[in-house]
Amino acid sequence: MSSIQTLRAIEILDSRGRPTLEVSCELAGGACASAQVPSGASTGKAEAVELRDGDASRHAGLGCRRAVSSVTGPIASALCGRELETQAAVDEMLIAVDGTADKSRLGANAILGVSIAAARAVAVERGVPFYEHLSEMIGESPRALPRLTINLFSGGRHAGGQVPIQDVLLVPASATTIDDGLAMVCAVYKAAAELIHSKYSVRLLTADEGGLAPPFAGVEAMLDDTVAAITAAGLRPGDDMGIAMDVAASHFYDGSRYFISTEPSTADDMIGQVSRWVRDYPIVSVEDPLAEDDWEHWPMIHAALGERALTVGDDLLCTNPARIRRAIETKSCNTLLLKVNQIGTLSEAAEALALARAANWHVTISARSGETEDCWLADLAVGWGADQIKVGSVTQSERLSKYNRLLAIEAATRLPVVDWPRAAVP
Ligand code: PEP
Ligand code: MG
Repeated sequence: MSSIQTLRAIEILDSRGRPTLEVSCELAGGACASAQVPSGASTGKAEAVELRDGDASRHAGLGCRRAVSSVTGPIASALCGRELETQAAVDEMLIAVDGTADKSRLGANAILGVSIAAARAVAVERGVPFYEHLSEMIGESPRALPRLTINLFSGGRHAGGQVPIQDVLLVPASATTIDDGLAMVCAVYKAAAELIHSKYSVRLLTADEGGLAPPFAGVEAMLDDTVAAITAAGLRPGDDMGIAMDVAASHFYDGSRYFISTEPSTADDMIGQVSRWVRDYPIVSVEDPLAEDDWEHWPMIHAALGERALTVGDDLLCTNPARIRRAIETKSCNTLLLKVNQIGTLSEAAEALALARAANWHVTISARSGETEDCWLADLAVGWGADQIKVGSVTQSERLSKYNRLLAIEAATRLPVVDWPRAAVP
């Protein structure tokens, strides 16, 4: 790669109307690319820290002007004009300039924008699609497209908490292409919208990621409505369309009790409850069924789910290699939810990916609730051979930009969608 000549950044708005950044990187050879940075709402405690302005008079303190200054000031000074041959060298320099364990000095948002914009500029310089460049970065070539997991219903922090769990997602299990999978999910979304409208007599309000968010009586109602919508769309629950859940249990946990129903629940109650859902509904994947600090009980819930459903760690792992190692050693889960901004650089996320792969885990590459129209996540999921991709619903352009990019990659490469189900470690 030729050296980085110029780094620029501007503050832009994400899909929730909150500030974030767009970073542009120009290489000495003339290649130029930019990247927009996502941001979460149901964040894990171990996530790398975004730099926000804290000026209450502007965007409620959430402005990103300081993060912009991190890019154009200390980061540009450290990176521009220097011989940095690889992505690892760029990311190591970013980590060194920041100097904190959680990237809070310069901001994980500033650092991620530079990491991705630099990688993209190199892909432009090399004249290869971004997914191909990302694949070569981990010493592979693209082999398959990820299985879609698409948000249908939302609660929790994504929908104002009308029901404690965060998301119910559709997994088009019988689809052999992205194109077919999207068509199947769109049919179920439409059927669900009609069902919700007649059953709850409410306007079709959508949550952060475009999921439908009526006032469900409880989690079972959410799951019953999912099965009803799949059937109404003429599809077979389970065989054609599986269900995935993001319980996001950290967000209704007080340190010892889970507040999922009227009475507080213990971890044992939660394990029993989630096991019953997996028994009674065609659930293929359960994310964060327990809280991020409840390490004691994760091995038990993973054992209880066994091979019936993937046990997915999001807040538990925070794409953090140290936490992933601990989860592998303790057999706490078997799927990494990979969000690059939880850790801050592409290279550290690649390390997380390698650890998960070495343990024969599944990997789901995920967007955030606060997204942008940028589509790099689709390239990342293909380039890094993700088993699943999680982007949100089939509405809202910040979600559709990723699905439409997957469609374009599918049309260009004719790669198959990854087999489903692929055996995961018990
Ligand atoms: C999630 O919890 O998986 C998620 C995508 O939400 P957020 O971006 O709000 O963390
Ligand atoms: Mg989650």
